[in-house]
Amino acid sequence: MSQIELKDVSLRYFTLKEETEALRGVNLAIEEGEFVAIVGPSGCGKSTLLSLISGMLQPTSGQVTLYGNRVTEPSKRVGYMLQHDYLFEWRDVLNNILIGAEVRSMNMRLAKERALSLLERYGLGGFATHNPKQLSGGMRQRVALIRTLVVEPDVLLLDEPFSALDFQTRLALSDEIGTILREQHRTVILVTHDISEAITMADRVIVMSNRPSSVKTEHRIEFSDGRPSPLLARQRPEYNEYFQAIWGELEEHVRISE
Ligand code: ADP
Repeated sequence: MSQIELKDVSLRYFTLKEETEALRGVNLAIEEGEFVAIVGPSGCGKSTLLSLISGMLQPTSGQVTLYGNRVTEPSKRVGYMLQHDYLFEWRDVLNNILIGAEVRSMNMRLAKERALSLLERYGLGGFATHNPKQLSGGMRQRVALIRTLVVEPDVLLLDEPFSALDFQTRLALSDEIGTILREQHRTVILVTHDISEAITMADRVIVMSNRPSSVKTEHRIEFSDGRPSPLLARQRPEYNEYFQAIWGELEEHVRISE
């Protein structure tokens, strides 16, 4: 049994005006501690897939399980980090980080200790009492990540966490966060439209097809000489091979959908 399993999952959205079939027949198994990236054409249903795993959405048919149990509601074991950091401007950095712990009625003394140590470890030691607006975009995303980590989820869902940042910050932060997440040995599912980000951060890249979307192909990412950091991975010969292969698959979808 895998930690997360999606079996023949389909999802239709119904609105007053229309019906959208986002996912059809998705099968996917994710192992504990694996770092998986999901790429696919825009609007194919990648965020929808994360919402299903998080328990915020229920499949129209098929089933999603976590440790063999059907996911029917949001679980404490799953943390979700979104594209926008959603930090509250009226709370300082530390109190933003503690929101999840408050909501889950965790031991606040322990949560605070953990928050301070994560801030220290990830280069934000002096910023606990700063307000979010005093931070750069990259720092805000790190705070959002620490907020997700502080409640110690087994599974981390990341939905385009770097896409609002400029290119250089994005590169530096994905390198930094990739390294942090590897250190944490948690299961990570990263949704991104950036093929480079997917290849350099993940152990496995899942390519989704056009809507109604399902898993088209998957690539296990392996480098001959151990796992380089995301920045260094871009210089490895294997990187170009994976990039060409995934790019080709996505391009095919775009052409078909035109
Ligand atoms: P992606 O993350 O791959 O860009 P999404 O999962 O956000 O794709 O969306 C997949 C499809 O479902 C899109 O066509 C989108 O417009 C539609 N969709 C997403 N959320 C809703 C919703 N709450 N109600 C109706 N349609 C939705």
